[in-house]
Formats: sequence, C-alpha cells, structure tokens
Amino acid sequence: ATGEPPVPPEQPVSSEPPVPPEQPVSPEPPVPSIVGSVSPKQAAVLELLRKAGKPIEQRQLMRQAKCGSGPIEALLHKGLVRRVLRRVDRFLDSTSEETAPAGPITLNDDQLGVWKQLEPVLKQGGFHAFLLHGVTGSGKTEIYLRAIEEVIAQGKEALVMVPEISLTPQTIQRFRGRCGEVAVLHSHLGNAERGGHWRRVAAGQVQVIVGARSAVFAPAKRLGLIVIDEEHENTFKQESTPRYHGRDVAVMRARLENIPIILGSATPSLESWHNAQRGQYTLLSLPQRVLERPLPPVGLIDLRHQPLKRGRPSALSEALEQAMRSALKDGGQVMLLLNRRGFSTHVHCPSCGHVETCRFCDLALTYHKERDVMLCHYCGFEQGPQRNCPLCGQAAVRYQGLGTEKLQAEIEERFPRYIVRRMDSDSMRKPGSHARVLTAFRKGLIHILLGTQMIAKGLDFPNVTLVGVVNADVGLHIPDFRSAERTFQLLSQVAGRAGRGPQGGRVLVQTFTPEHPCIALAATHDYTGFVAAELAHRRQHNYPPFQRLARIIVRSRDQQAASAFADQLADTFQQTLQATATQAPPEVRILGPAEAPVFRLKGYYRFHFQLQSPSSAALHQLLRTVLPAQRTPAGVEFTLDVDPFNML
Ligand code: ADP
Ligand code: ZN
Repeated sequence: ATGEPPVPPEQPVSSEPPVPPEQPVSPEPPVPSIVGSVSPKQAAVLELLRKAGKPIEQRQLMRQAKCGSGPIEALLHKGLVRRVLRRVDRFLDSTSEETAPAGPITLNDDQLGVWKQLEPVLKQGGFHAFLLHGVTGSGKTEIYLRAIEEVIAQGKEALVMVPEISLTPQTIQRFRGRCGEVAVLHSHLGNAERGGHWRRVAAGQVQVIVGARSAVFAPAKRLGLIVIDEEHENTFKQESTPRYHGRDVAVMRARLENIPIILGSATPSLESWHNAQRGQYTLLSLPQRVLERPLPPVGLIDLRHQPLKRGRPSALSEALEQAMRSALKDGGQVMLLLNRRGFSTHVHCPSCGHVETCRFCDLALTYHKERDVMLCHYCGFEQGPQRNCPLCGQAAVRYQGLGTEKLQAEIEERFPRYIVRRMDSDSMRKPGSHARVLTAFRKGLIHILLGTQMIAKGLDFPNVTLVGVVNADVGLHIPDFRSAERTFQLLSQVAGRAGRGPQGGRVLVQTFTPEHPCIALAATHDYTGFVAAELAHRRQHNYPPFQRLARIIVRSRDQQAASAFADQLADTFQQTLQATATQAPPEVRILGPAEAPVFRLKGYYRFHFQLQSPSSAALHQLLRTVLPAQRTPAGVEFTLDVDPFNML
C-alpha cells in the first residue's frame, strides 16, 4: 500500500501485564537463488512469509503451511528466515473477530443536519466547541468517525477521549477499522509501553489517539480535532493530585491549539448543557435512534407494594421475573443492573443491633461470599467473617442487603437452565476478562448478564430485549448534590442497552421512589425535562453550574487537631474575605466547616468546608491569597479540590 505510515515496532494496545513475547518468524530480504535448495515444505513456508510481507507467529505459520517446526528450524538454520520478538496483544487478538467491519453507512437526516454544521468548521479549523446530544443508539460514533476522517484527510491528527470503561475492543475496533494508525492509551499500560506510544504519537506516526483521561496530554503535534465521548462521565475527573478534569483540560487544549472539539453524550453533564444554553458551545442534536428504532419503553415497578415471595425478600419482583422468562423464551438476552458489589451490604446482629463497620472508616463492611471476607469499599480493609455477633455474642449475625453476588446466586437458582455471568470490579479483576465476557455475551453464550454500572455503558448488543434495574435507588440518597443527576444518567445509559436490534426491547426499573423526578423522567426518556428541573434546583441552591465550588478537606488521626485546624483555616478565609472584598456581600461564600459525610476514612478524621462563588476569578484570587501562607500543624493535612465531584 502507498502512503501508509511506517509500521510500528509493537502492537498499539496491551491491557495485559507484560506478555511473554511470542516468537514470530519473518523473511529475510529475498534471496531468490537459494530457493532451489529448499524442500517443498520449506518453500511453502517461505512463500507464506513473502506473501504476508510481515512476521507471522510460528504456530500460525505451521498451521498455514501444514508443517511441523522442522522446516522452519531448517530455514532458520540456513539463515533464510529469522526470528523476531514482537509483543502480541492477546486482549485484542482474542476478540478481533467480534466486530466485522461494517459496510459504508449513509447518514440519516438527523446525522446530516449535524454534519452540515460540523463540516465547515472542520474544514476551516479554529476553536469551536460542540455539544453533541444524541440519545443512545442515535449514531453519535458515526459522526465522530466522519469528523476524524475529515481531519486525517487534512493530514492532521485526532484525539478521542473515552471513559476507561469504554476502552473495550468493541470501541477500539470501530476506530481501528476506519482511521489509519490508532494508539490506545489506558491506565493499565506499563511505563515502557506508555513511553512507546508516547514516542510514536510525538513522532507523528499515529493518526488517532484513543484514550482515557490522561490521553489529553498526548504529545500530538498536528492535532486537528478532539472528541470526548460520554462527556458526562465522572472518570474524566482525577481524584488524586493533580485533581484535573480531563474534559475541562481538553476544552482548554482545543482553545490553545485553536481546533474544534466535540463533546458527546446521551445525557450531557449539567455543566456542558449550561454552556450550550449560554452559547459557549454549539448544541447539535440527534433526538432519535437510527433506522427508526424506538427508544425502549420503560416500566416502573413500585417496590413498596411487593408481596414477599415464599415469605422472604427477593431481588426480583414477580413482574420482572415474568418479563425475564418471556424474553429468554423468545431467544432474547437479558441485562440486569445492580450498582452494588459484594454479597450482602451489611452484616447485623438481630439481638443487639450491632452492625460490623470498618476499623478505619465510618462504613459498614460488605460481605463478599466468593472470597469469604468482609470488605470496606472505601479503604480496602478486610477481615474474616463472623458467625456470631462480635459485640454481644448472643446471636448468629444476619447477612442483609443485596449486592451483585447475592443477586447472581438468586438468579442462578431461579433460572437454572440459563447461563448467568456477573460483571463487576471483583469478577473482572483479571485483565482481558471484561473483553472475554462481552465477546461471549455477543455470541449468545451468556443469557443473563448482570452487574454494576460496568454493564451500563456504551455497549451495543442488538439481541438484548430486556434490561432490568434491580434497585434504582442505590445512588439516590448519597449526600451529594449530583446524586439525582448521576441516577438519571445511569438509568438512561442502562436503558439505552435495550432494544438496539430489530426485535426491539424494553426496560423494567424497580424502585421505592418512582415519583422522584430523576427516575420518573428517565422512564420517559425526558432529558430536557430533567435538566430543566435540576438546573432550577441548582440555581436556587447556588450549586454548579451556576456557581463555582471549591472544597477543602482537613484530616488528621487526631480528631481535635483536625477540627481545630479546619476552624482556623475557615476563619482565615473569612477574615481575608472581609479585608479584601471589593463588594458587599463578598463574592465568595464560605459554608462550614463541618464533619465530612464520611467522617472517619482510612483512620483519619475529616472536616471540610466549601467556598462558593459565581466568579471563578474571585474564588481563585481568594485561594491564592490564603493558601500559600498556610502551615499545617504536625499530623494534620489538607487538600483543595476545585470543582469537586466527590462530596463525601
Ligand atoms: P451511539 O454512539 O449514539 O450510541 P452508535 O454510533 O453506536 O450510536 O450507533 C448505533 C448503531 O447504529 C451502530 O451499530 C452504527 O453502526 C449504526 N448506525 C449509525 N448510523 C447509522 C445510519 N445512518 N444508518 C444505519 N445504521 C447506523
Ligand atoms: Zn475502611
């Protein structure tokens, strides 16, 4: 082929820990005169290698040439071929057959409307931010691909940011198939590998960089476009120093490099939606699914009025169980979402009421049956399970609350003739297991796939005709002003997995609060209705996106010391504010200090307070005045989180 970029020395992706390098065999530069002296088997091997024009793995070569290792060894001995080491990516290899390259797609009217707005900007270049709001299955990815093809045709490069969890072979294949040389960057890369990709990107050998958060720093020299898929995802925000938000950095980079950026989502973050409303971003809409497929109908099941089955609580209501049976009977596949890991979420004593908590955190321990341990989901502390109450010793403890492990046990018991798999961070520990389960599910080897939010995102399985949400309320009562937004997003995303094929599909959501707007409006696929209500609420309470927020957390193993320093720091802010404020009331409000919602974490007592301001300049000015002068007492630390996502 002509115009191809140089072949890279290694395959671009490996999510595996260092793989023992396979040993392919490659042809020496042709020396035709000697060919006469080789056996027919050896000649066949040479012919295959010459045709391939690149190294072939030995096992595969033996298969293709229908020979043993003898002829190859002989050729090696004669110096006609040589052995080279290549890192082979099993993660991709094992699944590469799963997505056949799709034929050319004709854009539908909605997509054409979007493309008409994008194309001139892409052709002309220059900074321009687009918010692509497209319902699940509306063909957003197709738009990204066209946009990328356009900038590649101009000899430029594109950066595509996706949440870590979307870095599935399915996603990657779609870009590989269409976009030239693709580098994939994710958090499982070792330093050497990351360095290798980084150098290839810097050397201009890559047309498209696909990666999670930190890919925003990739050293591309001729960037022509940035795409952020699922822009609402929290994983773009890094929760340790440096606490940057990948999306915000990306918008800043696009501004600095003077190039267009596309933020895409079915459920844009309120921040981005607000920016579109203010005219900072150009809103592009794909309100319908492709091929006139409807969004799936969503039924709500009110758990408050469910009779106990066989006298004990059950994860599945009668309605959901029946729906599963009929979907499976018709040859469909089922996905079940329960966003809680483990077997039982708390272990409690029926005699004295004691609940076993983490030794280091204010948090109930979750029982994990497979590993037979009690685990703290915040700090990772684990201890052996108790049979009797450790406090009163009077009674056998009870394992209460429902996690994915218990759900799996119940589903396997109820549906013995079907194959059930679970997908959560416990069952997906091994690299590549995520890809393996998804491939098996795609092939129909799994009937029921259940799991945490891991199963909710971005997957396109046309044969899923039923999605069940076992408990929609799991994330709703967390003390965080974004909990309604997150619940709405999660429900919309998981509902989006249903009915993507010609058979259609539906969604059933079990909840104790069917009237809550984030659940009721997710059920009617009413994103705009939800954001309108939620934005009004945020405005009323001075929350983002109307005001900027900074959160300061003070922690110490000594409760008194933490408390005293938090008071002192908040005081300093207050006084500085009074002294420097140019208007009354001052532009920054200070809320707190108070105990953080998770008061004790990893053995530290935590106090926090928030600074709130409509003006980011005023907020930063105050932070810059106060913080550099601070000296913390021994044993006390504090962290600053600007635009925080974690409020616990
Ligand atoms: P989204 O990213 O919005 O969820 P996708 O881009 O994954 O949607 O599109 C869903 C499916 O529809 C994909 O299989 C894609 O190939 C297909 N598709 C996209 N655009 C069209 C179109 N114009 N006509 C037919 N199929 C399309
Ligand atoms: Zn803990």
